[in-house]
Amino acid sequence: MSRHGSGARGGWFEDTGDSDLPLFNDQRPLTGPFLTFFSVISNTMRPPSLPVLRLAGCFLALLLATPQPILARQPSEPRVLLVTAHPDDDALFAATVYRITHHLNGKVDLALITDGSGGYRYSTLAEPIYGRTLTDEAVARQYLPAIRKQELMAGGSIVGIRKYFFLDQPDLRYTLNVDSVFSDHWDAEFVWDRLGAILEEGAYDFVFTFVPLPETHGAHKGAAISALRAVNRMPPENRPVVLASFIRSASETTPLDFTELPGYPLTRLNKEIEPFSFDRNRPIGIGGRLNYKIIVNWLIAEHKSQGTMQLLMNRGDEELFWVYAMNGPDAEEKARAFFNRLNTDP
Ligand SMILES: [Zn+2]
Repeated sequence: MSRHGSGARGGWFEDTGDSDLPLFNDQRPLTGPFLTFFSVISNTMRPPSLPVLRLAGCFLALLLATPQPILARQPSEPRVLLVTAHPDDDALFAATVYRITHHLNGKVDLALITDGSGGYRYSTLAEPIYGRTLTDEAVARQYLPAIRKQELMAGGSIVGIRKYFFLDQPDLRYTLNVDSVFSDHWDAEFVWDRLGAILEEGAYDFVFTFVPLPETHGAHKGAAISALRAVNRMPPENRPVVLASFIRSASETTPLDFTELPGYPLTRLNKEIEPFSFDRNRPIGIGGRLNYKIIVNWLIAEHKSQGTMQLLMNRGDEELFWVYAMNGPDAEEKARAFFNRLNTDP
């Protein structure tokens, strides 16, 4: 993603720079008031008396004897498929994925279309790590696909990705032309068929893609279009809701200047629905000193062969998701319920 996606559209994907600094400046050890608080709690708690214990026992027996409708209503566990072109592209939705797998107990799988071997130009810093001259194209074509899969799965283990589907299409070169990606780079029919089989088997609720912006890499556009085509081939009742994602900085206030990619009507976004979002600055942990940017940074750090990707650490505040117009009439309701759960505490 980094070598071709960053910086596109100004504030979209750009960051305000030092918005995180107060968090880092305010990291104090858990001493003083925290230790005092715990010691007060333990000192004031006395063993309960016998009548109190009997009463508690009766209450427990009553609870066990009563039907428990709340326990029977298990929360749904959403199933999500990410469809990406390159092994580091899932950083775009890393915070959302972590939240799905850790907060909703959801299942997230990833279909990776290319072998990632074209990402060797900024592999300089990874050469001593892997003991290969990865900036040499011939070396990269041989070794980088395996290295990048390893990096992807290391990052995926952090955010909780369950399964990977590697379609291993050639990652030939940078181009904006998605038609050439379909005609010259990939076996497009194989990609659509394979995605169709993955979708059918996985019975997903949602599919995440990039917003197929005209100025983004043709492979990013190709991945989104392939996912949309594969979903569009499914019986309507089995189709997941397909969403288009992009990152926005907190300082960005202008709406996304994109509705559809010319020549690809399936890529049309339903702009009447405001994008759904997950905030990477959402606090986690004691005192709210931690947030989801840490997790995104961990994932990015795993992609050591992708030098410029590292420069995206701490950038981007919101992961936004638009509903494609090709989705069924209940897509908005499903997406709204999903993101409401995602954004509900704890
Ligand atoms: Zn990419």
